[in-house]
Amino acid sequence: MAKEMVLVSGGAGYIGSHTTVALIEAGYDVVVIDNLSNSDLGAVEGVRKITGVDVPFEQVDCCDKEALRAIFKKYPFNSVIHFAAYKAVGESVEQPLKYYSNNLGSFLNILELMQEEGRSNVLFSSSATVYGEPDELPVTEASPRKPATSPYGNTKQMCEDILRDTVAAGAGVKGIALRYFNPMGAHPSALIGELPRGVPNNLVPFITQTAAGVRECLSIFGNDYNTPDGTCIRDYIDVVDLAAAHVAAIGRLVEGCNKKDYEVFNVGTGRGVSVMELVEAFERVNGLKLNYRIVGRRSGDVESVWAETSLANNELGWKAVRTLDETLAAAWAWEKHVRGIE
Ligand code: NAD
Ligand code: UDP
Repeated sequence: MAKEMVLVSGGAGYIGSHTTVALIEAGYDVVVIDNLSNSDLGAVEGVRKITGVDVPFEQVDCCDKEALRAIFKKYPFNSVIHFAAYKAVGESVEQPLKYYSNNLGSFLNILELMQEEGRSNVLFSSSATVYGEPDELPVTEASPRKPATSPYGNTKQMCEDILRDTVAAGAGVKGIALRYFNPMGAHPSALIGELPRGVPNNLVPFITQTAAGVRECLSIFGNDYNTPDGTCIRDYIDVVDLAAAHVAAIGRLVEGCNKKDYEVFNVGTGRGVSVMELVEAFERVNGLKLNYRIVGRRSGDVESVWAETSLANNELGWKAVRTLDETLAAAWAWEKHVRGIE
């Protein structure tokens, strides 16, 4: 029997490359497309090395509908995982049109072509950012979405709604939005991982770059929050576990196990970890002292958020299994690989 084929948009990126590995390991055929605006071919090479499969890669911009149509004509996939988007919150505030144009335009093209070319299943990369500052913790999928505090966050809410409405219109498309909490870490092979361009916005790459001497000092944004140690709390999910959630969600659609044609799942560990706890764990696990200082709060930061994961655990049959220590060791191994540190 022919294998199921999945199109992975943004598959040269951080989460897309790990998901491509997981899909191939689960027996899927994968086609990767990416415009390489925030990645390079090294990730595709890494995926090929890890899996031993010469996964097809096409450099395509999802905003170019005719180029994207050619991919739909060329490959007989019935499922799409749509990662392709810009993701820098601060930049989205400065350049909102860049974000609305790319993040909405690319997804609209994917959905239109799925209808026009008769393809069924789509996963969308959403984010815990849709919950804003939650009223109750942990957040469930039924917790209210809060008004977005950035154009980036708004594109996630809008794309969720576009998917919901497209599915509801009976377009022959079934969809799942996965709301990621805080992805971190790298593949245990250290052949793929997170490769931010310029100064990292996210905590873990800033930590690993500081440990590698690329950044002088980590700034911890505030220790006067209403949390046990005063620093913010997040739900850090290992990128390999996150990749496995995509395989489970695609399997649910392919096998027709979905209860509704549009579903939403939180993808987190269910455990909140503070910034200080994370820094201390990184030091302990990797036997390092990190240069850090406490500075003022970063505007727009949520105090605490972590996921209720029972829906994903029960319905997708998926659970985060990697420990914080394993993840922080993998993040450091990847940074050392990138920097050529022994
Ligand atoms: P990433 O930047 O590493 O990967 C995204 C990839 O998409 C990049 O390789 C980029 O070159 C590509 N891309 C962007 N626009 C494109 C376009 N128009 N056409 C083709 N390719 C395009 O980011 P990531 O961390 O892997 O995130 C993947 C998805 O998950 C994004 O949608 C992001 O918003 C979402 N997400 C990420 C996080 C996180 O913390 N990393 C959290 C929640 C949600
Ligand atoms: N953070 C920090 N220093 C940094 C980057 C992030 O103290 O250089 C904190 C940030 O204030 C937040 C947590 O780390 O409390 C996670 O931030 P990140 O940007 O990684 O994710 P998000 O804010 O999207 O949850």
